[in-house]
Amino acid sequence: TARILDGKSIAMMLEEALAKQSAALEKRAGRKPGLFVVLVGDDPASAVYVRNKTRACARTGVNCFESILPASTSQDELLGIIDEANAREDVDGILVQLPLPAHICAEAVIDRIAPEKDVDGFHMLSAGALLTGQRTLGFRPCTPMGVMKLIEEAGVDPAGKNVLVIGRSNIVGKPLAIMLLEKHATVTIAHSRTTDLKTLARNADIIVAAAGRIGLVTGDMIKPGALVIDVGTNRKPDGKLTGDVDFAAALEVAATVTPVPGGVGPMTIAMLMKNTVESAERRLAQLP
Ligand code: NAD
Repeated sequence: TARILDGKSIAMMLEEALAKQSAALEKRAGRKPGLFVVLVGDDPASAVYVRNKTRACARTGVNCFESILPASTSQDELLGIIDEANAREDVDGILVQLPLPAHICAEAVIDRIAPEKDVDGFHMLSAGALLTGQRTLGFRPCTPMGVMKLIEEAGVDPAGKNVLVIGRSNIVGKPLAIMLLEKHATVTIAHSRTTDLKTLARNADIIVAAAGRIGLVTGDMIKPGALVIDVGTNRKPDGKLTGDVDFAAALEVAATVTPVPGGVGPMTIAMLMKNTVESAERRLAQLP
């Protein structure tokens, strides 16, 4: 039976190191790293994500500034709030919780964030820096960063491996494929129009499932000895969280699997804190 990779405990170890780093930074700078979090509207899932991020700030010694806005907030008002956060000395990172209400253009809001404070890594400058292999500009998206760390913790070197990424979103699948390519993997990206997922999956040494479909990856799709990372976060009818992978079946075939919850989720939050502390370090280094 497969090894279960405990994302929660790996994330807690990362956060402990970040707490030390931010305490040292506070001594030098006279202030903590600061994360500005914007939540528009009252989507319950978004409220939970924001609360988890606020708690992670507390654990890592990061100041959290929350701006909770009504669903009726106009795009211009929101852009004004981003401008203010861009100008604040004590704010190192800005995060706009997605999704935004339909009357607001999410791209316009995200691209308004000063790139040096874009700790979610969704700004087009951050995306361009990732695509072209720049490491000193912008930030990388947190979920793919967390997946890469889990692959490393599994003891698997992606170089030369067949990796199947299921999902092509701007926040998970696409940036993850670029990061895997950077580590010399042979990357296949599957999506909703893919015709033979099973054949692609059976050929993969590493499967990363990020489609948001319960039971998409079944046991017969997994190559024996593969590493299976489950990004999917789906609500079952009973309210419990579950991934895209048939976890029990994967345990029988794979070498290593990540659970949901307790796999990619906590790693994503740890990487957000890492980007925030890194942003504070960079901004401090640039002070006259
Ligand atoms: P999305 O809806 O933007 O993208 C889903 C992708 O899956 C699309 O590219 C689509 O083409 C593909 N897809 C859908 N059905 C498919 C199928 N049957 N076969 C192959 N591909 C299919 O979602 P997203 O924002 O990329 O998130 C994906 C999943 O990961 C969701 O469940 C989301 O909740 C979860 N997620 C988790 C975290 C975390 O921190 N744990 C972070 C981000 C997203």
